[in-house]
Amino acid sequence: MRLSRLFTKTRKDVPADETAKNAQLLIQAGYIHKEMAGVYAYLPLGLRVVENIKQIVREEMNIVSGQELIMTNLQPRERWESTGRWDDEVVDVWFKTKLKDDTEIGLAWSHEEAVIELMKQHVNSYKDLPISVYQFQTKLRNELRAKSGIMRGREFVMKDMYSLSIDAAQHDAYYDSVIEAYKKVYERVGLGDDTYVTFASGGAFTEFSHEFQTVCEAGEDIIYLHRGKNIAINEEVLADESLAKLGIKRDELEMVKSSEVGNIFNFGIDKSKRMGFAFTNEAGEKQFVHLGSYGIGITRLMGVLVEKFADDKGLVWPANIAPAQVYLARLGDAPEVIAAADALDEQLNSAGIETLYDDRDERPGKKFADADLLGIPYRIVVSEKTIAAGKYELKKRTETDTQLVKLEEVIKLLGR
Ligand code: ATP
Ligand code: MG
Repeated sequence: MRLSRLFTKTRKDVPADETAKNAQLLIQAGYIHKEMAGVYAYLPLGLRVVENIKQIVREEMNIVSGQELIMTNLQPRERWESTGRWDDEVVDVWFKTKLKDDTEIGLAWSHEEAVIELMKQHVNSYKDLPISVYQFQTKLRNELRAKSGIMRGREFVMKDMYSLSIDAAQHDAYYDSVIEAYKKVYERVGLGDDTYVTFASGGAFTEFSHEFQTVCEAGEDIIYLHRGKNIAINEEVLADESLAKLGIKRDELEMVKSSEVGNIFNFGIDKSKRMGFAFTNEAGEKQFVHLGSYGIGITRLMGVLVEKFADDKGLVWPANIAPAQVYLARLGDAPEVIAAADALDEQLNSAGIETLYDDRDERPGKKFADADLLGIPYRIVVSEKTIAAGKYELKKRTETDTQLVKLEEVIKLLGR
């Protein structure tokens, strides 16, 4: 992608109406646009980041047999009344509106009820189960506070997956496989070392539910880490009784700030019972379907990556997530420099290396500052000097040293 054609511009000033570091930097770098508090548009570079995160999640959900679909944002009132979740006292994040004929509807903040209703059309027998479906969708939630930038949106992208199982045993096996899939997701996005499977209160059906919490100063949660056992617990589980069940002592725990980047939940047969979602078991009897629900905050993850890796010069993306691998800065507009930079851009692209090609008529200082602000893992400079040396100048975003390298070396380092 050529920067001369990219419509987004970087800006020096920190947006005055934004307090969260993640949103400040993403706005300055032109990755997102703030429409209002907690509501952001994702611009071309920001969208690439979102898509890269989604692709990793998609691959891991497919491995655990998830089938992708998209459910609807508009939700009928009756659906949620049947489980007691229409009431604003019970769910305090509903956005509600009306059709022309005054029929009340809600804007989806989650999809358990929707998936049950839709699956009633497709599940009859125990032979149809287990099933797991997932979607990437913009969830709408009337959050009370929206001061954490994209980490808490009123409109945000979530991956939500739902599993339907014949019984608790089948559910539990699947649930455990999703825990492993989630671990892989957080490793692949670059948060493996700092993301903990966290025990939270489980509700009516299980001892515990699980959250995935990433240690992060800007997070809104607090967890208690057990570094030795590589697990964490949240505040609800801090009681002595729960600690005893997990075999941990209070004084072995370290309190840290964190952000919930994922959440998995066992709903048991409660919702199926209320919504009359049953199948015929092997004995020919009716049995209620066991429901599990598994979320990942895609755009929250993006915000956490910004918060954790950015430095005083700007964004820093993990290689798997970055909108491009190389920021190619062309210095000067001498014909041989233009020709050399154009050629390198093509050679890198054909080796499968994505570039942001800074072909703009800008001073070197501005190009270097933008390369840092945008957070692209590597910067390559093409100038009269590098042409004279017969090499390219390569620098890692997180290092200050530059080195002169040949094309083969770049391809060896970054090619796929
Ligand atoms: P929180 O306690 O942070 O409000 P939640 O318990 O409401 O989260 P879930 O309903 O389980 O979250 O949603 C699944 C995932 O979606 C969360 O683990 C989180 O990563 C993400 N998420 C939830 N609310 C938001 C939001 N307002 N903005 C961005 N991501 C969110
Ligand atoms: Mg919430």
